[in-house]
Amino acid sequence: MPLVIAIDGPAASGKGTLARKLAAHYDLPHLDTGLLYRAVAFALLQAGLSLDDRPAATRAAEALDARNLTDSRLRDRAMGEAASRISSVPEVRAALLAWQRRFAADPAGAVLDGRDIGTVVCPAASVKLFITASAQERARRRHRELAERGEASTFEGILEDIEARDARDSSRSAAPLRMADDAVRLDTTELDAAAAFAAARAIVERGRATVG
Ligand code: C5P
Repeated sequence: MPLVIAIDGPAASGKGTLARKLAAHYDLPHLDTGLLYRAVAFALLQAGLSLDDRPAATRAAEALDARNLTDSRLRDRAMGEAASRISSVPEVRAALLAWQRRFAADPAGAVLDGRDIGTVVCPAASVKLFITASAQERARRRHRELAERGEASTFEGILEDIEARDARDSSRSAAPLRMADDAVRLDTTELDAAAAFAAARAIVERGRATVG
C-alpha cells in the first residue's frame, strides 16, 4: 500500500517544515494544502474582488492551476489571513478537496499538510500526525521566519494573528481544525528542528509497522 502521511496542526506549528523533511526522507511528493487556499485568496485580490465574494472564490478554487502555487507572495502574512477567511466557504473547500484527493492518490504515496488532512482529505492515511506548539512559541518562530524573508512584523502583532487564526480555523463549521481520533499528537514547543524531525520519523515508522 502506498505510504500516505497526513499532517495537520495550527498556524506556524512547524508542520510545513516537518512535511517537507518527511517527503524528502521517504521520497514522496508533498502538497502544502495551505498554499491552495492562499492561491484562491490571491487570485481574488489580484482581480480586485472582495474576499467575501463567495461565488468568485468558488470559481477561483475551481480554476486553480498548479502553476499558480509558486508565487512567493503567497507566503506573505496578509495572504495567510486572507486564506483563512475564504477557507470557511464550503464550496471553496469542496473544489479544493477534489484537487487534494487526486494528489493523495499518487501511486507513489504522498505527504499532505494542512488543517483537515487526517479528518477529511485523507481519512484512510497510513499515518496521521497532529503538530502543535504553544501560541507564544509559534509566534516566535513565525516572527523569525518573516524577519528572514525581510518582512517587518512585531512579536505581539504575530501572536494576535496566530490566536485569531486558531480561533477562526477551529470554530468554522466546514472542516474545522481538529485532531483526527487516530492521529498522533506531537508537541514541538520544547523541540528544535532536528529533534522534531526525529520524533516525527519515529511516529511514521511506528504507524507504518502497524498498517503493514
Ligand atoms: O497553513 P497556512 O497558514 O498556509 O494556511 C492558510 C489558511 O488556509 C489557514 O489559516 C486555514 O484557514 C486554511 N487552510 C484550511 N485547510 C487546509 C489548509 C489551510 O482551511 N487544509
